[in-house]
Amino acid sequence: MNKETICVQGGWTPKNGEPRILPIIQSTTFKYETSEEMGKLFDLEADGYFYTRLANPTNDCVAQKICQLEGGVGAMLTSSGQAANFFAVFNICETGSHVVMSSAVYGGTFNLLVNSLLKMGIECTAVDPDCTEEELNAAFKDNTRCVFGESIANPALTVLDFEKFAKAAHSHGVPLIVDNTFPTPINCNPIKYGVDIVTHSTTKYIDGHAASVGGCIVDSGNFDWMAHKDKFPGLTTPDESYHGIVYAEKFGKAAFITKCTTHLMRDFGAIQSPQNAFYINLGLETLPLRMERHCYNATTVAKWLENNDKVAWVNYPGLESNKYYNLAQKYMPNGTCGVISFGLKGGREAAAKMMDKLKLAAIVTHVADARTCVLHPASHTHRQMNDEQLIEAGVSPDLIRLSVGIENVNDIIADLEQAMN
Ligand SMILES: *Cc1c(COP(=O)(O)O)cnc(C)c1O
Repeated sequence: MNKETICVQGGWTPKNGEPRILPIIQSTTFKYETSEEMGKLFDLEADGYFYTRLANPTNDCVAQKICQLEGGVGAMLTSSGQAANFFAVFNICETGSHVVMSSAVYGGTFNLLVNSLLKMGIECTAVDPDCTEEELNAAFKDNTRCVFGESIANPALTVLDFEKFAKAAHSHGVPLIVDNTFPTPINCNPIKYGVDIVTHSTTKYIDGHAASVGGCIVDSGNFDWMAHKDKFPGLTTPDESYHGIVYAEKFGKAAFITKCTTHLMRDFGAIQSPQNAFYINLGLETLPLRMERHCYNATTVAKWLENNDKVAWVNYPGLESNKYYNLAQKYMPNGTCGVISFGLKGGREAAAKMMDKLKLAAIVTHVADARTCVLHPASHTHRQMNDEQLIEAGVSPDLIRLSVGIENVNDIIADLEQAMN
């Protein structure tokens, strides 16, 4: 099936007399006739639900839909995008491990990988995503266990060279994990280009209505854990907390995602509520239509900004003048995302003043939903930094992050124009 069809019909296939749309199984527990049946579930000897922290049928249907869209072998929903990225890394890293990370990642991910994981004894080296192959290879250590990047970085809007990063990761015997939140599985499928694990903050375009926080992990099934047995003992040696099963032997291609569920979800418990999974599913049904409109509107606005003499610069990977245009064409030929950054000639002060005059575009700490919104990092998310520090962090003081919604584009442009005037 094509993606538009999977979005509407995937995940849930009702049998005779069952609800037409995905039911919300709002139950913590599932009943069995015999204690032996229940015991088999605990031992991973049989498939089935017994407690929603480990698995829930509503969540599984939605995870299955995202899995089909990404072309993976298995997927899991998490309570947030942060939880998805944490689990994806922690599933194969432990005290003494090292991670190579693109420096252009979401601020929350940067803090997680650089600061919080360090407290668990996991070290991280950040590399410029535009570095040479030599520079990238030099970042690896004997204890490197994964590489992490974002397909389109939030908010830098750099496009990751998947093949360059996958080649480096695989030549060092480790997987590449990519956060694919901004282009969504509609515009980009990183697995096609060698990415092993894909994550999402479903809070953004997948939900699309700013209604629920959530995340997802998709396993490509392509990484050969047994070929690098010593690096990944959690997947290739007996798990005593499950009577000595070896994930890579028992679950084959689905080893990574199975361990994520049976181990990390069991112990850390960042499960998505079935109610939120239901909302995400509604979002998924219209995702292809919305992404098409987000991209059309953002491209139109970016071109308008580029031709406006009050504007100093525009950054949007869908613009032909953009540094990442060719990479974007290669990996996401149908469109990138709806997020643009730009600066006004009046600089930082003009940015704040202009934003106060916007009527349709709201000032909110969010991106990637149906409503157009703006954020001025220098005044908001990065306000504790001075101009020099901002530039070092790759956020120029005049940078306005504009998340273009699905309203009529003429109204969005009219709003920007009156505010600039
Ligand atoms: C928002 C975001 C996250 C974090 O997701 P939450 O759902 O807010 O926890 C991670 N990665 C990217 C690229 C994001 O935009």
